[in-house]
Amino acid sequence: MSPKNSSSKNFKSEDKSEKIVTCFTCLVKFDINADDCSHYHYGKYPMCDYCSQFYGFYK
Ligand SMILES: [Zn+2]
Repeated sequence: MSPKNSSSKNFKSEDKSEKIVTCFTCLVKFDINADDCSHYHYGKYPMCDYCSQFYGFYK
């Protein structure tokens, strides 16, 4: 019998899709692939979640 719901699944998930870049506005490092407002401004300049919302460049 193997435990189905093992609670030992709390190791850090190092997702390979994570991509750390530097925000071109505030120079903070962030994950461009995170599920937030961070994006490439003009499809070129990495902009973090905070700046994206602050400047309202997203959308
Ligand atoms: Zn920023």
